[in-house]
This record gives sequence, structure tokens and C-alpha cells, in this order.
Amino acid sequence: MQVYHGKSVCGGIAMGKVSVYGRPESHVKREETQNQEAEIRRYREATVTAVEQLDRLYEKARQEVGETDAAIFEIHRMMLEDGDFQEAVENIIHTLSINAEYAVARTADNFARMFQAMEDEYMRNRAADIKDISERLLDILQGREEERIQAGEPVIILADDLAPSQTVQLDTSRILAFVTVRGSLNSHTAILARTMGIPALVGTGISLDADLDGRPGIVDGAAGMLYIDPDEETLARLRGALEAENEKKELLQTLKGKANISVDGHSIQLHANLWNIRDLNAVLQNDADGIGLFRSEFIYLERDSFPTEEEQFRIYRTVAQAMGKKRAIIRTLDIGADKQCGYFGMEKEENPALGCRAIRLCLTRPEIFKIQLRALLRASAYGNLAIMYPMITSVKEVRRIREIVEEAKAELEARGLAYGHPEQGIMIETPAAAMISDLLAGEVDFFSIGTNDLTQYVLALDRQNQSLDEFRDAHHPAVLRMIELTVENAHRAGIWAGICGELAADPELVGEFLAMGVDELSVAPERILPLRKAIRETDVSEYLRTR
Ligand code: PEP
Ligand code: MG
Repeated sequence: MQVYHGKSVCGGIAMGKVSVYGRPESHVKREETQNQEAEIRRYREATVTAVEQLDRLYEKARQEVGETDAAIFEIHRMMLEDGDFQEAVENIIHTLSINAEYAVARTADNFARMFQAMEDEYMRNRAADIKDISERLLDILQGREEERIQAGEPVIILADDLAPSQTVQLDTSRILAFVTVRGSLNSHTAILARTMGIPALVGTGISLDADLDGRPGIVDGAAGMLYIDPDEETLARLRGALEAENEKKELLQTLKGKANISVDGHSIQLHANLWNIRDLNAVLQNDADGIGLFRSEFIYLERDSFPTEEEQFRIYRTVAQAMGKKRAIIRTLDIGADKQCGYFGMEKEENPALGCRAIRLCLTRPEIFKIQLRALLRASAYGNLAIMYPMITSVKEVRRIREIVEEAKAELEARGLAYGHPEQGIMIETPAAAMISDLLAGEVDFFSIGTNDLTQYVLALDRQNQSLDEFRDAHHPAVLRMIELTVENAHRAGIWAGICGELAADPELVGEFLAMGVDELSVAPERILPLRKAIRETDVSEYLRTR
């Protein structure tokens, strides 16, 4: 049995096969060969197999998500069959007398560099596809299981680190747990794991060896442990723990339909965070009062070109209709920082967390912003949608947003399209916004406090940097005071204030938040019922006395 320890992102126990996701470059070894013809044959056979895989994937995707989204597999097939690519691989095998794997990796690097240097944005984006097809070929050449993650049984994902754009493309219904070598507790991958309510560990430092693939594993999320090839004793112990956990979950079900009210009558709204309409079911099943944060940027990260107004409209309308009278807050796109999206063609920044992200990007490129606003305004005619703007630092920004919203409405009117009049609120996630929340409160309908970024900016601590965890204090008084100030200023102006960062789900702070008068907590769907239980067991007067 091999035992690894990591930082716990999300509790729970998962048992199943381990699947190593992605492969470090170093796994492609350069090997000399005297038999170039045999290597060329291996390469050609691998191409045939890859084309067959892609045809199958195309068919599956066409049925599940439609022709437009399936087209990517056709593009990959065309690239694989491209004469220049094939000639380059075979030439390298011939002239350098080396193995097919190395020739494929090297050709892919050359082609990717060539694409990246092109003027045309569409062609630049093809660099990622070249990487994809070369990884497919390498999987086949190295005898790795075909389409492990897309088509197999549910697995425990073992990865170096996952970028948000990679995470969002995984088929989440087939993932039992996440374990990453690196990664920090507040990274978006960690947040995704919490949203999905699946056990997850980061920072395990495990060496990603291809022969871990397919081995039996157990993740004990709460204890931060990963066991590979577990022995009988560990298996029996964790099976027992899993049963106890399931019983606890069943007990929580009895809280559905009950109020979020403390022992002494203080009530609060419990909303859900989500980043994909696939999670809508979880929102409804966990009895959320509404959606407090829909991270709409994931619509952009899932694609390799801009989503159209029509595509976005359909997504937002689905959310509005599914939630009925309940409020669903859609946050406008928060691209930038760790959420990079190639086709935006953004300049490389020295310090992207302090760079052109979120609302700054929208205000500098209003043509992109307006497409999303028009889609949101149209969808808001179908339910109780609200719009929320991220990374605000000034009143001037809010006023400029209002002007752009008016322009978007005028454009819809000119096209004769109906739209609603959604509430508009802002995230309070910069120290500037918290400090001028009295001024901002007069400009908007609500505040939602983003404690993930607020903590990063107040404490000057990069939320992605795991090596700084010892300096991180999620309960730092500076952050808690800013929350309190924001709530006070909201109430003074007659608007409501909630929290949608990860801190909202912290059971140790529920009493504090109720005492501060926070109106809403928005958390991962799986956290709603445990939080309702904590609220119903809290006596707020105890917290009010100590203030
Ligand atoms: C936050 O910063 O707290 C937040 C909710 O937004 P995100 O985690 O997506 O940056
Ligand atoms: Mg944020």
C-alpha cells in the first residue's frame, strides 16, 4: 500500500481506480533506433487508431452536445491526416534515427510554435489542438488506455495541477475525487471540487507515475489522505467511515424544506454557487433558496472561440426558467488572473491578479461585454435573474457599466427583442470596494462579498500560491471587519449584502455572520444542508453579547 498526504479541499471518501491525468513532458523519452521503418509503421498505425477514436468521439459529441461543439473532433482528425504534419514526423524518425514518440512530440512542439506566431487569432488557437492530437498519438504509442476519462468507469483523478479551462472540460459525472500534486486551497479547481461535493486533496507532492494508472485507490478527503493499493485493514476501516458518512447525508435530507433560522429567530438566505448549468440539478436537490453566484466565465473557458449572444441567451434562460421565482444571480465574465482564455488574445501580464481581469476587461472591450449583457437582459424576461459585476473598485466603474447596459438595451430595442429589468449588484472583493461601500451602496441593488479575492488582496497573499498557506488566515480580523463594514453600509442604504466566497460555508463563522446581519450566504450546493443544520443550532445572542 502507498500512502500520500495532502491538503484537504473537500471531505468525503471515494473508492475507485486511479487515473493519471495529463503527462509531464519528461515521459517522452528520446530513444535511438536502427529500424526507422518499424518506427514509421508504428506511427502510421497509431494515426489510424487515433482517427478511429476521433470519429467515435465526434459521433458521441454530436448526439450529446450537437454538431457545432462536436466539430472540434473533426478538426483534430484533419490535423492528424495533414500531409505536412505526417511528413515532418516521418522525416524526423528517418534523419535522426529516433523513436516515433519523440518524433511526434518534437513535431507537435514545432507546429504549435508556428501556429502561436501567426497573426490570425483563429490560427493561433490551433496550437492547443496540435498539443491535443500529439497527446492522443502518444497515449496510443505508449499503450495507455483509450479515452480513459471520457468513457470509462468513474475514477479518482490524479493530476499535476488543473487549470480552470482543463477542469471545466472534464466529464464531472465520471469523477470520484481529485488529487493534485500542486495547487492551493482557493484555486478554482479546489472550488470546483467543493461545488461538486467530491473528495479532493491538493499539494500531495506525489510523483505522477504512469503506472499508477488503473490501480485501486481510496481518497479520505477530510483526513487529507490518498491510499493506493489499500490493504485489507484500511479498506475495512474506510468502508465503515463511508457508511457512517452516507447515514449522516441521509439525516441532512430531513432538513429540506425547513427554514434557515437560528435558535433565537435570526434568519438568513442560503443560495448556491455554480459554474455550469450541469450543476443546476444539485442546486435544486439541495434545496437552495436561489443562486447567489453563477460564474459565467466558464461558458467562455469551455470553448475555443467567443460564445454568441444566442448561445449565452439559451444558457441564462435555462437557469432563469429552472429557478422559477427564486433569484438567480449571474456574474458577468471574470476572465484574467488564473482564468486565462487564449482566444481573448490578451497581452501577457507581469502580475495578472492585479491586471486586466473581470470588469476591467469588460470596460476596455465593451463589444465583448455587450454581447453578454444583451443575452442576460433578454433571458431576464424569463424569470428572476439578477446581474452581478466582479472586481469593482470605484463608483466611476459602476456608472460606466450602467451606461453600457443602457446601450445594450437600446440595441435590443432596435432589433425589436424583449428584455427584462434585472436587479444589478456588485461583488465586494477588493479592499477599495469594501472601504467605499457607503458610496457604492447608493449605485446598486445589492452587494455580494467575494472573500476569496478580498482575502488575497487584503492580506497581499496570492490565492494560487500554496507555499504561502502558513501565512493565510481565513479568519483574519482585517477581512472580517471589511465584511462587517460592507454589511453595515449596505443596510444603511437599504440594500442587502451577502457573501459568495468560500468563507460563506465556514461553519465556525455562521454565528458571526448572523450577528453581523449578513442577509445571504452563497455556497457550493452540497454545503447548503450542513450549513442549514449549523444555523438552526446557533444562538446568535451569544455572539451579539461578545461584540
Ligand atoms: C471571490 O473572489 O470570493 C469569488 C466568489 O469569486 P472567484 O472565486 O470566482 O474569484
Ligand atoms: Mg473573485
